[in-house]
Amino acid sequence: MTATSMAKATATGGRPPVIAICDVHKSFGENQVLKGIDLEVQAGEVVCVIGPSGSGKSTLLRCVNLLEQPTSGTVHVEGIEVTDPDVDIDAVRRRIGMVFQQFNLFPHLTVMDNLTIAQRRVLGRKKDEAERIARRNLERVGLADRGDAYPAKLSGGQQQRVAIARSLSMDPDLMLFDEPTSALDPELVGDVLAVMRGLAAEGMTMLVVTHEMSFAREVASRVVFMDGGVVVEDGHPDQVIGNPQHARTRTFLSRVL
Ligand code: ADP
Ligand code: MG
Repeated sequence: MTATSMAKATATGGRPPVIAICDVHKSFGENQVLKGIDLEVQAGEVVCVIGPSGSGKSTLLRCVNLLEQPTSGTVHVEGIEVTDPDVDIDAVRRRIGMVFQQFNLFPHLTVMDNLTIAQRRVLGRKKDEAERIARRNLERVGLADRGDAYPAKLSGGQQQRVAIARSLSMDPDLMLFDEPTSALDPELVGDVLAVMRGLAAEGMTMLVVTHEMSFAREVASRVVFMDGGVVVEDGHPDQVIGNPQHARTRTFLSRVL
């Protein structure tokens, strides 16, 4: 743990930040994508990451659960250094839910089986228990009656809500969302955002890459604006979206608002 995250841990009653990203660089060959990112997310915070396409948002998110290995710097999740080569990364990943733009449901499995397969295989839950937990989470996303459906029979918005319910069924301590509504028809976006609002209200720790500025403004505890592989601004949404300090942030916002 770094000195700053240690100090934070003391300030938050001994709990380390849920996510602590410290001076993370990531290159793909010659392409320097992340150029020294520092970011902390405390328990119960909803942090929205905004920024132009190609600025490194997805790469940053993927560094949290080590889908990408940073070139240098450290990432801690709940005080455990995931960038330590000796860490049991599967154990850490089990506590992290991830929802992508593409829903990645198994097309040949029913909604119920999509929700129970990892619970049974990864967590070793019995069928009855896994199904009970799945039903509770389908209810949470407003799809209690769709357990028997196959993904192809659902709208994109419903499929994304199933993907969220599937993540929740693994009892994650934090959720990563990478543009969860970007692939959806506009009329389907609202239901997915409503589910995410509900999670935020329940106190779920969330790191969300999104272009939905009204969601970021209303729900985020903090908004982080990234451009060119660096964090340009990090602060309360009223500040970063409402009163941006940097010309790059203003230019970006003028294009998306
Ligand atoms: P954003 O999510 O902000 O649009 P990304 O993190 O997806 O940005 O991508 C940032 C840059 O990193 C882009 O130039 C992209 O081409 C590059 N990149 C991302 N993933 C890979 C990869 N697996 N291999 C090579 N280049 C990558
Ligand atoms: Mg992306």
